[in-house]
Amino acid sequence: MEVKVRFAPSPTGKLHIGGLRTALYNYLYSKKVNGKIVLRIEDTDQTRKVENAVENLLSTFDHMKLKFDEGPNQTHNKDNPYFQSNRLDIYKKHVQQLLKSGNAYPCFCSTETLAKKREKQANNKQTIKYDRHCLKIDSKIIDEKMANETHVIRMKIPSNKQIFFYDMVRDKISINSEEIDDQIIIKSDGYPTYHFANVIDDHLMKITHVMRGEEWLPSTPKHIILYDFFNWDLPKFIHLPLLLNKDRSKLSKRQGDVAVEDYLKKGFLPEAIINFVVLLGWNPKNEKEFFTLDELTKEFSIKNIQKSGAIFDIKKLKWINSYYLKNKDVNEIAKLAKSFFINKNIDISNDKKFLSIINYVRQRVHTLEEMPVEAKMFYEEISFLPEQLNIINNHISQKLLKMILSKLKNEPNCDANRFKQIAMESGEKLNLKGKDLFHPLRIALYGKPDGPDIPIIYSILEKNEIINRLLKVVNG
Ligand code: GLU
Repeated sequence: MEVKVRFAPSPTGKLHIGGLRTALYNYLYSKKVNGKIVLRIEDTDQTRKVENAVENLLSTFDHMKLKFDEGPNQTHNKDNPYFQSNRLDIYKKHVQQLLKSGNAYPCFCSTETLAKKREKQANNKQTIKYDRHCLKIDSKIIDEKMANETHVIRMKIPSNKQIFFYDMVRDKISINSEEIDDQIIIKSDGYPTYHFANVIDDHLMKITHVMRGEEWLPSTPKHIILYDFFNWDLPKFIHLPLLLNKDRSKLSKRQGDVAVEDYLKKGFLPEAIINFVVLLGWNPKNEKEFFTLDELTKEFSIKNIQKSGAIFDIKKLKWINSYYLKNKDVNEIAKLAKSFFINKNIDISNDKKFLSIINYVRQRVHTLEEMPVEAKMFYEEISFLPEQLNIINNHISQKLLKMILSKLKNEPNCDANRFKQIAMESGEKLNLKGKDLFHPLRIALYGKPDGPDIPIIYSILEKNEIINRLLKVVNG
């Protein structure tokens, strides 16, 4: 049977790092076994819907180069079967089946009544569960009541039954049905709840493996019962470990960004994010640390998914990102970095200069966003600090800088190495070496005593700008 997996987000906001991990693992597994991956939008909770969430999700996946075999694409027309809100008739038909077989029943209790019941149970230290009041309603009046009164539909959880299933990461999981509430499957607005729509769709879409975050584990027994009501085969279940902050609390916005888009905006590269995210709960069981998406589709395996929570360590993400910044084609990096410079109003019209700056700064930063800051000294007019002025204005530094300037002017084809030689020769003449030679020169050219090697500064700024910068600091 062809493997078919799905990523089934609710459109309630931006794609979360955890969501990306779930989507990625499903994607990788489907590719590895030549199966299919479906993107299904679980938009049955009308109160939590967020404008543009689907568009945002699709564009983030585009950026990450994760493609779905089936999914909503850009259009949300009324027939698009990958939006659950377009499948209400399907859920209605299935709920009728459960009502008929006695596995579901309508409940007319108001929210206030239910709240009171819950409060009473809590006070008596009882399990909070619906007391099945509406199950006692005379069957003769049910249809009329359903036609006229607001109601929900609940599933009738079998009594005292051991519900179990196998999870490919956690093995056998078992729970007594007494611990499960009569879950609402159709809400009073006629929309199905997550549990119901999710199970119906996984079955109808022929999903073979349900791979999702551990937070859904408590829902699975309810799903198992639904599969049982319909007499459907179970898919395989894989629950992915929780993502944790460094202090082992659940990953949350309070401790940093959790949306993939926020990381993209900061200049983390999609391939670095993928490489980082795949390691949050999966281990290749070898020493390899950097993977392309293609390599991952070969190496990924469900058996190497861990059970214990995975710590989200931003330092590791930065480290992986800097690896990609250093190793990706420099022209590509320059293309990606452009908008970060333009946003800082930096004139990058000199392509050659920009490329050599990128080539230099990419060795020193963690993100594209950090590049303009690192490149500042090459673009801005230098404003010297008093202690730097002291250094470049002293008698001997002035002699040195003037000598370098005049030699440079007389050197028609000076390149970066020759410039360094000029500096060394001048230093030798004046008996200056090391710090005494390079600090005044680097301050004059770069605004700081420490920084890039002199030939690097020369090759980025080129002769004219070097002359300009020297002219600005020599007196008289
Ligand atoms: N709609 C659920 C979510 O937002 C799907 C969970 C599942 O994969 O079953 O994550």
